[in-house]
Amino acid sequence: MTYYTADIIYSDGNLYRDHYFSVENGMVQGLAPLNTLDPRAFRDMIAFEDSLVVPGFVNSHTHSFQSLLKGFCDDKPFFDWRDQGLYKYSQQLTEQDIYHGALFAFGEMLKNGVTTVCDFFYINDQDNANANAVIRAAKDLGIRLTLARTMYDWDGAPKRFQETIDQAVNNTRKLSAEYANDPTIQVLPAPHSLHGASPEMVKAGADLAEELRTVFHLHVAEGEYERQMITEKYGAPPIQYLDKLGVLNNRMVGIHCVWLDESEIQLMADRKAGISYNPSSNMFLGDGVTHIKELTEAGVTISLGTDGGCSNNRASIIEEMRMTSLLQKVVHHDASVTTAEQMLAMGTVNGGLNLNLPVGKLEKGYGADFVVVDLEDLSMQPRQNPLKNLVYAMMPSAIRSVYTAGRKVYDIGEILTVPESDIVEKVIATTGSW
Ligand SMILES: [Zn+2]
Repeated sequence: MTYYTADIIYSDGNLYRDHYFSVENGMVQGLAPLNTLDPRAFRDMIAFEDSLVVPGFVNSHTHSFQSLLKGFCDDKPFFDWRDQGLYKYSQQLTEQDIYHGALFAFGEMLKNGVTTVCDFFYINDQDNANANAVIRAAKDLGIRLTLARTMYDWDGAPKRFQETIDQAVNNTRKLSAEYANDPTIQVLPAPHSLHGASPEMVKAGADLAEELRTVFHLHVAEGEYERQMITEKYGAPPIQYLDKLGVLNNRMVGIHCVWLDESEIQLMADRKAGISYNPSSNMFLGDGVTHIKELTEAGVTISLGTDGGCSNNRASIIEEMRMTSLLQKVVHHDASVTTAEQMLAMGTVNGGLNLNLPVGKLEKGYGADFVVVDLEDLSMQPRQNPLKNLVYAMMPSAIRSVYTAGRKVYDIGEILTVPESDIVEKVIATTGSW
């Protein structure tokens, strides 16, 4: 057992002083006052000085390979971005390139305090080799990964994305079984969206989630065009149509959900579906602003995602917390409409809920994933309210160390598992000739 203490420990809305938490087998075993600890245990105590310890941030939506495409199609309308950037370059990526892309994306996330990431992965080539390359990168770096294995059958996209329903179900089921006993890897079914997957594929993904006892993720109502297209094609807007299909339930997590009306917001709350919100990406692509205030009031669980590297183009949940809050204040002309405390929940514990993983708290039974923040950093001054500082003021320079499953993977500017210079070399090797 290892014991950790710091000036302040944050977990699930509370600030603890004069406390410690204990870790064994990669899991938190308890959080308690220091004066209750057996004095002999102090030998195994690591005390972080001038520090605030927070649970590792959960990035509930990304596409790791897209980090390789940063800068190639920025500032373009959505369909140009998709066709001349995303579709064009994703055709040429080898399994090795996909591994490099994942090292790049996940490495950058670790440096920003992300300890769990959900990679919505769709360059499957009707097989699992590429998804396995992403998983290998996560394991090499030491980040906790949920691989949302995409199920895609729209024939307008590159062939590499497409599978039959049987292929998609069997490959996802097989990949899930391969990692069933791995404590840091989880596989989810992820029917791409109502435009990238047929209703039968979406239904198959929802059924598979039921079988595997996981949640399932899909993109919903990201752009206005999408809402119009689905409404014309299926006679109902996206959330209503998903409900008609019988898949809107507590296993469903909709990504984006920008274009919802009032009745759909209520329907999501009634069915206990979750949302992964990606504010920077929605801004970058000009999608619009999700109704975070109304969804929160209705009781929908909202977590945060960075989305892919070429629609953000940063890889930080701290940034997404700040963006979420500021955007709502702008939309509602009211600075009191969101709080830093709500943002911290979205960036930590809600991520765990939307991935159905015990992460995002530093309490018994949760993964020992945490970030040590330097309270001496200039961006954390003054010290009156460290939680507000964490969301609105902190710069990455304040992140001293990052632990995943009880293992230190980042310390004082250095990724300890895969040297940053190696990652840079690999990114240049892949993209240099483009
Ligand atoms: Zn996405």
